[in-house]
Amino acid sequence: MQVEQLRDYLRRVVLPFSAHYRDLFREHGLTADAIRSLEDLRRVPFTSKADLLNTPDNSQKAREFVLIPEQQVLSRRPSTIVKALLHGREEARRGFEREFRPIFLTSTTGRSADPTPFLFTQHDLDNLASAGKRLFEVCGAEREMRLLNMFPYAPHLAFWQAHYGGPAFGVFVMSTGGGKVMGTEGNLRLIRKIKPDVLIGMPTFVYHVLHQAAEEGLRCENLRRVVLGGEKVPDGMRRKLVNLAAELGSPGMEVVATYGFTEAKMAWGECACAADQTPSGYHLYPDLGIFEVIDPKTGEVLPSGHPGELVFTPLDSRGSVVLRYRTGDCIDGGLVYEPCPHCGRRAPRLVGNISRSSEVKEMHLDKIKGTLVDFNQLEHVLDDADNIGAWQLELRKRNDDPLEVDELILHVQKINGADDDKLIRDLNSRFVAKTEVHPNRVVFHDGEEMRDLQGVGVQLKEEKIVDHRPKSAGGLANIRKKADATPESSFANVGPVSKGRKE
Ligand SMILES: [Zn+2]
Repeated sequence: MQVEQLRDYLRRVVLPFSAHYRDLFREHGLTADAIRSLEDLRRVPFTSKADLLNTPDNSQKAREFVLIPEQQVLSRRPSTIVKALLHGREEARRGFEREFRPIFLTSTTGRSADPTPFLFTQHDLDNLASAGKRLFEVCGAEREMRLLNMFPYAPHLAFWQAHYGGPAFGVFVMSTGGGKVMGTEGNLRLIRKIKPDVLIGMPTFVYHVLHQAAEEGLRCENLRRVVLGGEKVPDGMRRKLVNLAAELGSPGMEVVATYGFTEAKMAWGECACAADQTPSGYHLYPDLGIFEVIDPKTGEVLPSGHPGELVFTPLDSRGSVVLRYRTGDCIDGGLVYEPCPHCGRRAPRLVGNISRSSEVKEMHLDKIKGTLVDFNQLEHVLDDADNIGAWQLELRKRNDDPLEVDELILHVQKINGADDDKLIRDLNSRFVAKTEVHPNRVVFHDGEEMRDLQGVGVQLKEEKIVDHRPKSAGGLANIRKKADATPESSFANVGPVSKGRKE
């Protein structure tokens, strides 16, 4: 069924209307009819993140991947003629509009200055809703439940997947917009008011809110499930969340994780199981896309159950379309086809932990507060700011708790006698304009303190970005500028709050 669908999709949708793939297939002497088995998909070259990034001579790279239909091609099709005869030309035209006109987008959280936009048509929004409906089903939603969506309000897939999944499944979902929109207090207020059965959000933020709730002695007695997405779920997080829920009056709460990415325009979920059981893995939708697991070094497709990098090909996407997309995400249990041991569903599953491949780390990218941030970009933001001299960015976890939310502290040396409040406002707006995150605190120092912080004269290079997040939280040690050129031992001496972590 998948191979038939793939061939049809290439023949009718992708190759006629995608500038990029039309050229690529021609270059490789490939046609839609050459795809006779799923193995034949391997003849199609990979598309990777780098293919979508703008270059100096092409500042709209992602546009090459958008399907742009030619009216002539569409109007000559027998199916179009039949439709026009039966329902009128206007109706046929409206149908194509629904199918091909981009009306919505989400974007990757990375590359700071130019995140890659992925366009959706109404057809894609319908698929997003149907993926959402299935996701809610798999995660064990029930019609009479009340759900609180705590994903940050942004043009990112996670928020919108939850948003569109609710009405498609037919369940009450309230979206708080996360901490960005109404703060921790606003989220707690809604928990008190709505008494949700399910919380949906990013692991660190949900943990942070529940932690705060427990500290304030709040009761939340009908919490049955926490659904996590947007970042990986660190070991121990599930157990901690279950314990926190018990403290709030909801013993036996279940935690399920989801996985999704911008380029797929959908997310997949685990089914619920008891805290002491092995999670089910992510239940896939074989009619909406094909996953392959490859050796990240050789690109060779690996057999079922082998760890490797995830590669995705959509089967019914419009708007922005990428084929054989290398996600850069590695799964350690691979792709399996056995029925799920928990729910019995026979859809293929991705099992085990997902981690980002080293390729991404080398680009000096890391997630802060769940948003992928390019540190090279941040450096420009600060170097270009008026009225500040030396600076240092410090990453920590709130209260040094490895499961808590990330905190970003900006240490700066003020110059030209600038006004504190004005300078903080200016720095915040610079951050938000370029990176979607902003510092939790700005701390002013004099020149000597800055030199101490940066290890000037002690380190080989000044320490401009330091990561004091505990290793277990998934913080990367090599995010510092030119970390590869700096001796590992310098980590032991990055300031009074260093934990001396080495990696
Ligand atoms: Zn299952």
